[in-house]
Amino acid sequence: MTTNDSYQFKAEIKQLLRILVHSLYKDRDIFLRELVSNASDALTRMQFEMLTNRDVLDPAAELSIRIEVPAVEEGEKKRIVIKDSGIGMNEAELVQNLGTIAQSGAREFLERVRAGEEEVSDIIGQFGVGFYSVFMVADEVRVVSRSYRLDDEPAAWISDGGESYRVETAEKSDRGTEIQIILKEDADEFANEWKLRQTVKKYSDFVRFPIFVGAEQANQQTALWRKSTSEATEEDYNQFYQQMTLDFEPPLRSIHFASDAPVHIRALLFVPSKRDKGMMSLRREPGVMLYSQNVLIQEYCTDLLPDWLNFVDGVVDSEDLPLNVSRETVHNNRLVRHLARMVRKRVLRELEQLASDEADKYQPFWEEYGRVLKEGLATDIGAKDEILPLLRYNSSRSDGKLVSLDEYVERMPESQTEIYYVLGDSVSSVANSPHLDPFKARDLEVLFWVDPLDAFVAPMLNEYKEKTFRNIDDAEIELPDLAETETEETAESPIPEPDFNLFVGRCVTTLGERVTEVRPSKVLKDSPIRLVSPKDAANREMDRIYRHLDRNYEVPKRILEVNRHHPLIANLASLASRQPDNPLINLSIEQLYENALVQEGLHPNPGDMLPRIQQLISLAAEAHK
Ligand code: ADP
Ligand code: MG
Repeated sequence: MTTNDSYQFKAEIKQLLRILVHSLYKDRDIFLRELVSNASDALTRMQFEMLTNRDVLDPAAELSIRIEVPAVEEGEKKRIVIKDSGIGMNEAELVQNLGTIAQSGAREFLERVRAGEEEVSDIIGQFGVGFYSVFMVADEVRVVSRSYRLDDEPAAWISDGGESYRVETAEKSDRGTEIQIILKEDADEFANEWKLRQTVKKYSDFVRFPIFVGAEQANQQTALWRKSTSEATEEDYNQFYQQMTLDFEPPLRSIHFASDAPVHIRALLFVPSKRDKGMMSLRREPGVMLYSQNVLIQEYCTDLLPDWLNFVDGVVDSEDLPLNVSRETVHNNRLVRHLARMVRKRVLRELEQLASDEADKYQPFWEEYGRVLKEGLATDIGAKDEILPLLRYNSSRSDGKLVSLDEYVERMPESQTEIYYVLGDSVSSVANSPHLDPFKARDLEVLFWVDPLDAFVAPMLNEYKEKTFRNIDDAEIELPDLAETETEETAESPIPEPDFNLFVGRCVTTLGERVTEVRPSKVLKDSPIRLVSPKDAANREMDRIYRHLDRNYEVPKRILEVNRHHPLIANLASLASRQPDNPLINLSIEQLYENALVQEGLHPNPGDMLPRIQQLISLAAEAHK
């Protein structure tokens, strides 16, 4: 008995085909992913069948997928063939399976196209559009199949992706399905074993069955992330990472985990040693590879981790994701959110562990990614609680080592209620900051915030563990009284009161509008002067940012505090009362003021000070002639 029947495609398939046939979609190589995934499904079902039933066609046949490029005559259209030894289909199944849309991915795809929500090309790659995607590259497709059931006859399904398809009897002696593709002329690049091998590697490297392109196996087959964590070694992880990225350096941290609830997940993630992946890297964009049942769904998935963790690379695999399985859209999205929550939590936990248990590894991590995390503070306000514990700073007591906020809070004396920080350009400049005088005297730790980003995020940080952040250039800070009898205030001044007042007046006239006020300091010890922010100083952190951006920068007006106990001030004040016209006085006031600006990281251009410094040197040399 022979048949040769013609069928019309269902309306929705016609619509899908019209889109696919005319698609100029750049990633149309996904057709191979879809066909391989179907073949792999058919093989899995065969394996399953044989658990209970040995009465099948070709019970001993190797379970594999073969891709071939048959030779064609000069001038003939090129072809490829994809063959599996899976469960196969009889005629009725061919009609049923390839003539109607059963596939959730395809249906979802159409719904989105209809809603006009996204570009067609953006959707194809993300959702398995299934078997029909072959018409992106094919002029004609012939599916020849033979079921595993001993009584079923082989049959063929033929279509050019237009309005209809044909089904006819066919010759095929072995079990499984063979998809013969006559390529469109503009898709003949696929009639090339090298290209096919690349494509298999890209999307189907971890399919559980061997995939041969020509005589050679093209896929690795074992998915390391599916192994149990006790089976995989550090060496395995490094090797896998290197293959995946071509990064020469091993990853700073490998994160391997699995869970079956609330959703199925197998993940193998990496923190690369370097943020810059280099020219040779195989991974060109941020995001992790998203797999479902060993088949790549998305090469760069950015939905699983926040932007400030987008340096994390690797694989997330969930069997619950609908590549082939029928699932509802809503469920699908909820699933991705579930996965994202699990992945994010786990990565953060690993980073915290790295920080607490392997400080020597956290240091390079921090140098590489610290700024990315700080950016996260600015862009993802809700993530403060996750990011703050990961931050590290130099401090007035850390001795060149980095401290965490937790360590800082832990060693705070009980009476201290605020977290103190000082802003500046570098550790060495803030280490000598006059603002530190009263803190040093009281043995209070101050964090050094010397990254422009620190100043940028400072206004967004209110508190950590119920301790408020406080910039110590604040004139209003109240510190506990010093234990010693002799405080800065009560100590006897080396200058008579009228001389000091005269000198303060001299500062006011010399600096004029540049300062809001000049006043004696109550706290300075080792420094002659300092600049403090007036109480209502808005934007005092932003001033620094503007300076870095070189935009709208005006030197902000501060309060100048003068230390009457400092020998330098005493000498200047005395000189000012004896020789009010001595040029040294104004020059020194100017220079002290500008020194303070530099120290604060507020000087627009320190080079401008050089002529005055030269003048001061000349005066000093003159005086000692
Ligand atoms: P899906 O794989 O999501 O079900 P497809 O459009 O990719 O959707 O395939 C449609 C159906 O065709 C499959 O469900 C399967 O029943 C059948 N099919 C496709 N390819 C094969 C194959 N190589 N072997 C056996 N059955 C196949
Ligand atoms: Mg499929």
